[in-house]
Amino acid sequence: MAANMAEIRARTKSTIMALVKADGYGHGAVTVARAAVAAGAEWLGTTSIAAASALREAGLTAPILTWLHSSGIDAGAAVAHRIDVAVGSVDELDALVSQAASPVRIHLHLDTGMARGGCPRARWDELIGLARRARDARKVEVAGVMGHLPLADHADPAANAPAVAEMQEARRAVREAGLGSPPAHLAATSGALTDPATHFDMVRVGAGLVGIDPSGTVRLHGASRLTAPIVHTAAVAAGTPVGYGGTYVTERAAHLSILPVGYADGIPRGCAPEAGVEIGGRRFPVVGRVSMDQIVIDTGAESFPVGTSATVFGPDGGATPTVQDWARWAGTIPHTIVTGIGPRVRRNVG
Ligand SMILES: *Cc1c(COP(=O)(O)O)cnc(C)c1O
Repeated sequence: MAANMAEIRARTKSTIMALVKADGYGHGAVTVARAAVAAGAEWLGTTSIAAASALREAGLTAPILTWLHSSGIDAGAAVAHRIDVAVGSVDELDALVSQAASPVRIHLHLDTGMARGGCPRARWDELIGLARRARDARKVEVAGVMGHLPLADHADPAANAPAVAEMQEARRAVREAGLGSPPAHLAATSGALTDPATHFDMVRVGAGLVGIDPSGTVRLHGASRLTAPIVHTAAVAAGTPVGYGGTYVTERAAHLSILPVGYADGIPRGCAPEAGVEIGGRRFPVVGRVSMDQIVIDTGAESFPVGTSATVFGPDGGATPTVQDWARWAGTIPHTIVTGIGPRVRRNVG
C-alpha cells in the first residue's frame, strides 16, 4: 500500500484522501486507513458516519469525509467525531439543517454526469442558497465541493473534460454565493493516475491503495495474499467425476487436493477453466464446481501433504495468480474479488 501511495503521490500535488469503504476494499478499514496515513494520506473517506466513527475509535485523527448516508445524517455524531458529510440534494441538506445544533462541516456534492448521487446541475443554485442561509444560521460550515468522474477509467482527458468544466463552474458559483473557496475534489484512482486536470485540491483514492488501477495503465502492487491449507487429499483413477454435478472428469489418474475456501469466502463460482492456485511454486487448476466452503485442485502426478499451504492469489506474479487474474477468470473487475472475500477468512496484517 505504501508503494501504491508513492505511485499516486508521484502523479499529483493535490491532497490525497484514502477511501476505506467496503471495509477497506475487503482488506480491513482500519488496516488500510493506518497504512495510507502512514504513507502520506491526509484525509480518509467512508460511506457512513458509523464507519467513520469506527475509524475515530481506532485512534485515527485525520479529517474524514462520508457520503451516501444510507440511514440519514446524524448531525450530532458528525460534530462529536469531527466527521465531514457530503450532501447531494436540497432535501438532504434541509433534513440536516433541521437537526443541527452546532455547525456541521458539509461538502456540497454535484452530480457531474453519473446520475448516481449528487445534486443535479439544475438545482445547484438552490442547494448553494440553502447552504448560504444555513451557514449564516451557524448550522453548517461549507468545507468542500465534490463531484465524481463517470468516465475516468478510459484514461482519456477528453472524456473527463465535461465533468471538469462542471466542477469549475460549480466552484465559481459557491464562491460567488459568498461561501469562500473550500477544497474541490473530483477524481478517484483512475483520474488521479491519468489526468492531472481532474485533480483540483484533493483526489479520493480507494482501489489504487490495494493495487487496483481501474484505468489499466499503471502497474500497482497487490496488497494482499489469500492462502489456504490443503485439508484433504485423494489419489483418484482416470474417469473420476469431481464435485457437484460431476462437471469435471479426470482424464488420467490424478492427485486431488481440497482447499477449505469456497464461494462463501469469495471464490467466484463461475470461473474459466484456467482458474488455478499456486502450490509448491507451480500453478494447478481448480477443477469441478466451486462449493460453498471448498475447492478441488488437480495436482496431476504430484501429491502434496495435508497442511501444505496453497496461494489463491497474491502479489508475486509467476505461478501465483493475481487478483486481476481471478477477475479475468470470473468475467468481473478486481474490485469484486477483493470486496467479496468473506468474513471467515482471517485477516493478518503483515
Ligand atoms: C468509490 C469511490 C471513490 C474511489 O474510487 P476508486 O476508483 O476505488 O479509487 C471515490 N469517490 C467516490 C464518490 C466513490 O464512491
